Amino acid sequence: MYQDGAGMECNLCGREVPFLNKADIEGSIIDVCDRCVSYGVKVLDRQMLAQPV
Ligand SMILES: [Zn+2]
Repeated sequence: MYQDGAGMECNLCGREVPFLNKADIEGSIIDVCDRCVSYGVKVLDRQMLAQPV
């Protein structure tokens, strides 16, 4: 259970989650939940934007 107001809200679906991922969605870096991160490209913290293939 998450405390009211203590959780983080997904900027895409609005779901309250314990933590968020940063995702590049249509050129914008937004905080999204684990489900919504699949709609874009997951961005890792720091300068790891280059995708290791
Ligand atoms: Zn979401």
